[in-house]
Amino acid sequence: MIQFNLNDTFTKALPADSVEENYRRQVWGACFSFVEPSPVKAPQLIAWSEDVAALTGVLLEPNTADDLKSILSGNKTIDGFKPYAHCYGGHQFGHWAGQLGDGRAINIAELSNNKKQWVLQLKGAGPTPYSRSADGLAVLRSSIREFLCSEAMHNLGIPTTRALSLVSTGEKVVRDMLYDGNPAEEPGAIVCRVAESFLRFGNYQLLLARNDNENLKTLVDYTLNQFFPELGKPSKEAYIALFRTISDRTLDLIIHWQRVGFVHGVMNTDNMSILGLTIDYGPYGWLEGFDYGWTPNTTDAQNRRYRFGQQASVGLWNLAQLASAFHPLIEDKEQIEAILEEYRSNFQVRFFDMMQSKLGFEGSHDSDKKILSKLIETLHLSETDMTIFFRELIQVSQETTQIQALSIIEKAFYKPEEIDGAVKNNWLEWFELYINRLKVMDKDQIQRAAIMRASNPKYVLRNYMAQLAIEKAEKEDLSLLKELATMLKDPYAEAPQYQHWYKKRPEWARNKVGCSMLSCSS
Ligand code: AMP
Ligand code: MG
Repeated sequence: MIQFNLNDTFTKALPADSVEENYRRQVWGACFSFVEPSPVKAPQLIAWSEDVAALTGVLLEPNTADDLKSILSGNKTIDGFKPYAHCYGGHQFGHWAGQLGDGRAINIAELSNNKKQWVLQLKGAGPTPYSRSADGLAVLRSSIREFLCSEAMHNLGIPTTRALSLVSTGEKVVRDMLYDGNPAEEPGAIVCRVAESFLRFGNYQLLLARNDNENLKTLVDYTLNQFFPELGKPSKEAYIALFRTISDRTLDLIIHWQRVGFVHGVMNTDNMSILGLTIDYGPYGWLEGFDYGWTPNTTDAQNRRYRFGQQASVGLWNLAQLASAFHPLIEDKEQIEAILEEYRSNFQVRFFDMMQSKLGFEGSHDSDKKILSKLIETLHLSETDMTIFFRELIQVSQETTQIQALSIIEKAFYKPEEIDGAVKNNWLEWFELYINRLKVMDKDQIQRAAIMRASNPKYVLRNYMAQLAIEKAEKEDLSLLKELATMLKDPYAEAPQYQHWYKKRPEWARNKVGCSMLSCSS
């Protein structure tokens, strides 16, 4: 029998839905509903993260493996723990959507290991009171994307929910992948996600929307006591400090996304973690060509609300919504305004610092702002692969000529024939500024390369790579899923054995569904 070091801080501290029957409904006066996962026919464990196993102490050992597999597929619950789903609301694409909640996520354990608390959550384990008109299930393609990307994100050093396991259910799930009237059966799957907490901005917002100030205070106090005890016992000052910390973590997270070229795709307030984690991997994508206007999410194609260049300001907009939810406790508009203003000014400073590290600069120099703005402008002139550009830039030194520099980064251009005339001149002018800047630096080339390598990953989960792994896995070939998971464990390393993945998106993937076009349907 498998042993878990169980806790129940969440369900103990917060009000439960008094109804325990599993049917769709509005849930009032509660932060969660008890609900059990639905059993599945023929579960198979198809991916497993040793790192998350070590972190949580949930180990796959011969004598417990069957038991654990049943738990991770939702066929069995853990003795001594009553699974539950969160009640939350949120702003979707800028509009208040009312109650949303864990429509296809069920928390199956809260446990501690090495003095840290972890919640285990199954995504796609059947309907809950919050499933509205949907089925509570998840398909293999989106589950592979979540499993691979959340672990890759962690290994890039970016805060995120983790993934312990990926189980295929042996059942079919119907999805209209592009919402174009072509529903089809797809294999179903369940990811076991892991985080200290899955609380979202929307948990607090829903209580505010319902004028439930008493439960709002209970939830904020729980958050403070459980995850931010260093900010002090509940008081107006501690609530202000809490909001400032959340704001700071959110900004920190988004600066990281900008650094590696990650576009979340659905930054609705119900997808914003109160701990500043990347959460809810849906139609996310990784930049290939550096483009502030890009979003992978076809559901957002018209307004591009969640495009790459907009993520920081959306983060601020979302924080302003959370601020409204905290207002009944803080009642000090000026303090809140000041924190939001700090986010704006900190963004300028931290974005600049982050870009300095990508360029290999230390300290700052009068010309740096100009170098940065001209780079961003030039990167937009002709499609230039973000990952390859910054990684190749490491080789440019103070001895390099402008023409040599341009040929060093040439492999980042998708349309080399466009690097001519005015576009070419722009690049040469930029390299003149860049190389001159390198000449006034104290750091030698080796030190500079080390700074740049730590900031510019060589391997990211390009959209077409995930899609290739999915297509193989759908034919029961897990080799690519395993290869990518292993490669992405060390994304900053040179790893020449993976050189074949260090290349631009192939042309066949430019407009292919799953590679460049993704919708919320998953
Ligand atoms: P998302 O766009 O994934 O952040 O989901 C928004 C809301 O829809 C959340 O309340 C989800 O739980 C819910 N949801 C998404 N997909 C499903 C599904 N297949 N079944 C039930 N609820 C879902
Ligand atoms: Mg969500």
